[in-house]
Amino acid sequence: MLRQVSGADMDFVARYDPMHDVDGTRSGTLPYAAAFETDRFHRQVGAWSASDRAAVLGHQAPIAASDDVSLSRTALGWHDVGHRFRRRRVLDAVTLDVRSGELLCLLGPSGCGKTTLLRLAAGLEPVQVGSIVVAGRVVAGPRYGLAPERRGVGLVFQDYALFPHLSVFDNVAFGLSGLPQRERRHRTEAALERVGMATYTEAYPHMLSGGQQQRVALARALAPRPRVLLLDEPFSGLDAGLRQQVRDDTLDILRSDGITTVMVTHDAEEAMLVSDRIALMNAGQIVQVGTPQALYHTPQSAFAAGFIGEINRLTGHLRGCGVDTVLGHLRLAATPCGCCHTDGAAVDVMVRPERLRLSVAGGADKGPLEPPLARVESVRSVGSCTLVRLAVLHPAGDPVTLTARVPICPVPAGKLASVTIEPGCTHVFAGVDRQ
Ligand code: ATP
Repeated sequence: MLRQVSGADMDFVARYDPMHDVDGTRSGTLPYAAAFETDRFHRQVGAWSASDRAAVLGHQAPIAASDDVSLSRTALGWHDVGHRFRRRRVLDAVTLDVRSGELLCLLGPSGCGKTTLLRLAAGLEPVQVGSIVVAGRVVAGPRYGLAPERRGVGLVFQDYALFPHLSVFDNVAFGLSGLPQRERRHRTEAALERVGMATYTEAYPHMLSGGQQQRVALARALAPRPRVLLLDEPFSGLDAGLRQQVRDDTLDILRSDGITTVMVTHDAEEAMLVSDRIALMNAGQIVQVGTPQALYHTPQSAFAAGFIGEINRLTGHLRGCGVDTVLGHLRLAATPCGCCHTDGAAVDVMVRPERLRLSVAGGADKGPLEPPLARVESVRSVGSCTLVRLAVLHPAGDPVTLTARVPICPVPAGKLASVTIEPGCTHVFAGVDRQ
């Protein structure tokens, strides 16, 4: 049973009704996706509590001055979002704010929940737990959801999802059905011009290359002028040569137009190359958020260290202010995260290949102690550096295999090299005793 709608509710409906757009236009951002029904929205508004309504209005809830600043910089946020498909949990208490104008990559292994996060933000999946915030306003929660086309959020699907029976022009114009004819034509032409597809208006999707289809999908998403654009692995269908060109062109357009962008990828190198920040996900959770450099140089977990860039893994045991490994006793600047600092505790020790130093075994630079020895298994030049495979010799068991990236390898394959680690460049995490 719905409660009676008050004057305040009517004011609210006038401002948040799906037929009254949040950005003042009557075009929609996602009319090509499944939309919520307008009358359901009205019924929901009638049933909302005062706190729900305050949450949707956003600014009506008391906000501390400092929060106000961060809210105004937040273009899109997932707040404490959980999600299940049937009974299986695929997202667990995800909280992530995307700053206005930034390009954030959602990075993680297949099945970790990246696409589900995008679909929740776009309104293609109802929110079960938590809330979605766009430009400081809650647009969706467990008991309400602003229509997808009214959120100011555009989505480019992995397979582009162009309508095969519509021309390029009509595919792009489809998202602008609420506008007067002239405005619709103007915006469609401008969007196609922006992506360099103005001469293909009469073509059909099957007549276009993968890169051209991607551009049309981008034009369709840009035409309604979204606040936030979501890209779900938008370049994965393109071959390697085209991929880089299309990616650079696409991201140049988004950056120069100042559009806040969230891009899903499972390619760590791509995320490192293009993003302002990366949100790294694993098994339905955000495990670390930061700049590419921060994730690479200061990973907060063994998973993060291993997912972003190549890394060597060793086992070790804490002793005093350091850790014993096959590469000797390594001094630690800080206690490893998550483990009690007791002597003998097993830890994972991770080292980037470029942090290993090689020298001729028994050479003049060995210092008071001979560094650990490794047999050089192979030496390969990869252009900018040399990749060296090593087998570290130690009395406790089989050799441990490592990879080093060095400018020039001072030792030929088959000979012994001394191996050291650049000071302060080991990452140590609580581990399991494997011995
Ligand atoms: P990928 O990189 O492979 O695209 P992802 O990180 O984007 O993966 P999601 O597509 O969000 O992952 O899926 C997360 C989990 O939810 C997966 O295990 C997937 O099988 C499951 N899943 C997704 N959509 C549905 C659905 N409609 N019904 C049931 N399970 C689903």
